[in-house]
Amino acid sequence: MSEIKNIDKNFVANTYARFPVQIVSGKGSLCYDETGFEYIDLGTGIGVTAFGFCDDEWNRAVSEQLGKVQHTSNLYYTEPCAVLAQKLCQRTGFSKVFFANSGAEANECAIKVARKYGSQKSENCYNIVTLVNSFHGRTLTTLSATGQDKFHELFKPLTEGFRHAVANDKKSLENAIDDTVCAVMIEGVQGEGGVIALDKEFVEFAREITAKNDILLIFDEVQTGNGRTGYLYSYEYFGVKPDLFTTAKGLGGGLPIGACVMNEKTQNMLGYGDHGSTFGGNPVCCAGAISVIDRINDQLLSEVREKSKYIFDQLSNAEGVESVSGLGLMIGIKTVKPAKEVLEICRSNGVLCLTAKDKIRLLPALNIPLQALKKAVEVIKNACK
Ligand SMILES: *Cc1c(COP(=O)(O)O)cnc(C)c1O
Repeated sequence: MSEIKNIDKNFVANTYARFPVQIVSGKGSLCYDETGFEYIDLGTGIGVTAFGFCDDEWNRAVSEQLGKVQHTSNLYYTEPCAVLAQKLCQRTGFSKVFFANSGAEANECAIKVARKYGSQKSENCYNIVTLVNSFHGRTLTTLSATGQDKFHELFKPLTEGFRHAVANDKKSLENAIDDTVCAVMIEGVQGEGGVIALDKEFVEFAREITAKNDILLIFDEVQTGNGRTGYLYSYEYFGVKPDLFTTAKGLGGGLPIGACVMNEKTQNMLGYGDHGSTFGGNPVCCAGAISVIDRINDQLLSEVREKSKYIFDQLSNAEGVESVSGLGLMIGIKTVKPAKEVLEICRSNGVLCLTAKDKIRLLPALNIPLQALKKAVEVIKNACK
């Protein structure tokens, strides 16, 4: 094992089961380990490097800002923060943005907005309904929101005020709602839960029942956002508009940023002093995010959908593949062999994939060249056999 791997094992907290690969450089959808071995990357740092490694345009945007001012705190105005918020609002029709540094923090903000909204109705209106098998983050409160018991066991007591309904089960959602509920929070496609898209009918029902009861609908677009599903945000695919949504991962193209985006109804929920973040809205991260958002246009989104169709067509009936799920370039593959085994075969043949539950998960760069994608799909096909 290389020296770096040893140092890491000795000094970095044991929270990650890393693959025995040290990535030393990359360009676009290709990257290289310490021996110079080349990989096609279909994981993008878990849906983060939206345009791949060291993309020229993104690099330029970030480096330019880095040469001007790297941080000011939120005591001062900076152009990238203001312009990014404006772009997000103009592209979505939403009204205001709070910037955080991660998905979990963006969700914490949405949860605070929902709680404050509820508190204006009644003292007991603070419950938030999330879905079984959801994933909303690792802070104690977003962990409580996460509908998977395996994450809860060792960390009780959890934050109060979360209930879990069964995904795609209208009755279950309806039963979870009463006058103590201030919000329903969903992922359009459950990512960590196994790359499972919600049914359109269920999402429409969630929109109807929340609107009818004056309850907020929150979309967690941390993983599904920023072009990942073939739409700028996945709620567009479902044909609904939430009251607020959160995003992170791909937004910064590789730098840490999260956002909680609020509509007319929720924009003024948080006032002076209600929330804050030292790094939130960092100008370098925002400059990177502006370059990402500016490139997610109709042309790119249609390419994402075409590449998605290519993957579905190639793998749906392939030998050793049970099913393919997901939306856009957020894809889950249920394989006959254990996913870990398929992942290992892919890796030794120069393709980096992810897993989600018992599936292979693919989150390639939004602009992955078709040639690299074809090559990688062949490797996956062979690994599944
Ligand atoms: C990754 C993820 C989060 C947590 O984001 P972090 O940046 O790791 O805090 C929250 N929600 C969803 C849907 C995610 O996929």
